[in-house]
Formats: sequence, C-alpha cells, structure tokens
Amino acid sequence: MLASESRYSGGLVRHEMLHALLGPRGGHPREPFLAQCAEFVGCDESCAEDAGPAPPAPASAVRVAPEALVLGLTSAPDTVRQSDDDAYVRATILVTNPLRQSIIVDVPSFDGGPPRSFSSGVEGRLFSFGGSDFVWDVTTLRFAPGETKRRQLDFKASELSAGENLVTGGFAGRNTPTVRFTVVP
Ligand SMILES: [Zn+2]
Repeated sequence: MLASESRYSGGLVRHEMLHALLGPRGGHPREPFLAQCAEFVGCDESCAEDAGPAPPAPASAVRVAPEALVLGLTSAPDTVRQSDDDAYVRATILVTNPLRQSIIVDVPSFDGGPPRSFSSGVEGRLFSFGGSDFVWDVTTLRFAPGETKRRQLDFKASELSAGENLVTGGFAGRNTPTVRFTVVP
C-alpha cells in the first residue's frame, strides 16, 4: 500500500480552521479539539499533550474488547468525476457502543507504539492507499452508553483511480464493511 499524507489532509486543514475560529487564545483546548470537533479535526500527539490530562473515566465504565463495538461506514457520492478538481468522496466511519453502560475499549499497542484508533483505506485499479490514526488521548477509547463516535475522511477525486474503488474504515484494529464508489473520467 502506498501511504500518502496529502490524501488525509482534510483533518489537518480543518485543524487549522478550528485554530482560526477559536481566535487568539491559542493552544489546543480539550473541548473543541478532542470532543466537539473530533469528527472533523485531527489532533496528533502534540495537540493531545497540549490539551492536558483527560478527566477521570466514569467509575461505572467497564472494559471491553474492540469486538464489543459496532462499526459502520457511509460514503457519498456514489460517482465522482476525476477531471473535477473540486470533487471529493466523503466517507464517515461510525463506531457505536451498543451497550447501556459506559465502556473503555481495551486495545493492544501497535508495534510498540500507542494503539490504533481510526484507520481507512481506498483500493482502486491503479492506486491503493491507507492510513491509521493513533490513540493520543484516552478519551478516544471511552464511550458513553449508546454513543457513536464519527470520523470524516475526504478523498480527492483527481487523486483516485478511474473505475470502481473500494473504501474501508477501521477502528481499534477492526474493519468496517466496505463501500464502493465509481470514479469517471
Ligand atoms: Zn494545532
């Protein structure tokens, strides 16, 4: 697989936009970066460090394996035009705690580093690429009863293979179902 940072730049761009919106107070306050906007905004190691320590987990939270989560993926539109420089396929990974109690997901570390959180991959006729985020903040692995965490991914049509493409998301080492879309010239 060919890794490419630029294809995952949506979260980085929106990270900078969030800085602009928050104005001159600066830094990476926990609420906007790791809670309210976590669906749209990337928060890497230094961002999470800057946000400071997480509040304690609810005392009632139980530890579960990633298998306890329900994973989904939406992707739109079904068809994009490669020649349209403004065309994107937008996919959203959905990770739901189906239980009526708070949970903490137990995820093994990945290659000696932090555990993986959200991941994604696209497979086309010419290009395949994928990437993973890592758990830089413990709240990524905490779910309230019934909570769904989302992560939005944007794939630029002009960087995809013409023809059928398959997109798959993941969380904590598990994969979502695969969704197909078509890139026309
Ligand atoms: Zn920042």
